[in-house]
Amino acid sequence: MIPVNEPLLDGNEKKYLIECIDTGWISSEGPFVKKFEEMFSRYTGVKHGIAVCNGTAALEVALAAIDLQPGEEVIMPTFTIISCALAILRRGGIPVLVDVEPDTWCMDINQLKGKITSKTKAIMPVHMYGHPVDMDPITELAEKHKLYIIEDAAEVHGAEYKGRKCGSIGHINCFSFYANKIITTGEGGMIVTDDDKLAERARLHRNLCFKEGRRFYHEELGGNSRMTNLQAAVGVAQMERIDEFVEIKRRNGIMYNGRLADVDCLQIPVEKEWAKNVFWMYGVVIDESTGVDAERFATDLKDNGIATRPFFLGMHEQPVFHKMGFFKNEHYPVAERIARQGLYLPSGLTLTEEQISIVAGAVKELMESD
Ligand SMILES: *Cc1c(COP(=O)(O)O)cnc(C)c1O
Repeated sequence: MIPVNEPLLDGNEKKYLIECIDTGWISSEGPFVKKFEEMFSRYTGVKHGIAVCNGTAALEVALAAIDLQPGEEVIMPTFTIISCALAILRRGGIPVLVDVEPDTWCMDINQLKGKITSKTKAIMPVHMYGHPVDMDPITELAEKHKLYIIEDAAEVHGAEYKGRKCGSIGHINCFSFYANKIITTGEGGMIVTDDDKLAERARLHRNLCFKEGRRFYHEELGGNSRMTNLQAAVGVAQMERIDEFVEIKRRNGIMYNGRLADVDCLQIPVEKEWAKNVFWMYGVVIDESTGVDAERFATDLKDNGIATRPFFLGMHEQPVFHKMGFFKNEHYPVAERIARQGLYLPSGLTLTEEQISIVAGAVKELMESD
């Protein structure tokens, strides 16, 4: 079986982990945490990095940092992981959805304006599968309406928008280092920001809102979202190779694109002229006219020894949110279509050129036989 993803852990990961054990520094107080924060924020081109225990926690802490209040709205794409909506709802906020673009699968910026109300506090663009969201129109809207931008950059370590790194454009931005992300700490996340005040609030909320100087005294309710020194040790080793990892992802994506460009009825990833796509996961969307959906295609590929994963299912189609009274009669046709017709192919860092040829060959053959 060719796996969808495999982490690459053959650098200094083991050495730094042993260092944690030998020195006894295993909690969030250990020195690798600060080092990882510094390396990652410098790489992203942002002043502050605040490491947390996972990407979902990063979103929750970022929303606490902007002080999202009950009843306030955050505009986000329906096509994403549940973490985005969950983080908003945890604070009593209201997720407001827009559809995605048919080619980049990123938030449809043309739908934003119509969703802004007097209650809107923030916009949460989610860079999708390695491709950046078109940020300039969002920045313009946010400035006009005095809104925060919170980038969810979990899937785009190293990707660029007009020469700027994704995760350096919004006011406060989030990353995940889950095992399938471009660099990983197993579980982990990071909040990055240039804003000193937001950084201070994020640090407070990651650590139970302990006050500096007066430890067991609390003015707000926070949570414990701290990253351990063990996770950060792996993170530092991964950061030493991030350029190499991003290059591997891009090479794989471009190789797939070359082999699949001429397959009828198969949509492949794009790279807009203003974008550097890092092809985190190599997604494809099958034309409905084939009569084949992603589920059936995944089964066929599995029979050929190729693992895949389905695309996200939009938030407006989630039973849990219908039960809570959200999104009941909302429809987002692009998200609905790609949720059913889209999947991603093996995209791991350990993938060989030969494996890419095997996968592309199988995809081609199946598409032509159907
Ligand atoms: C992976 C991911 C997250 C969540 O990260 P975890 O570390 O798994 O909590 C959030 N947003 C997006 C877009 C992701 O892909």
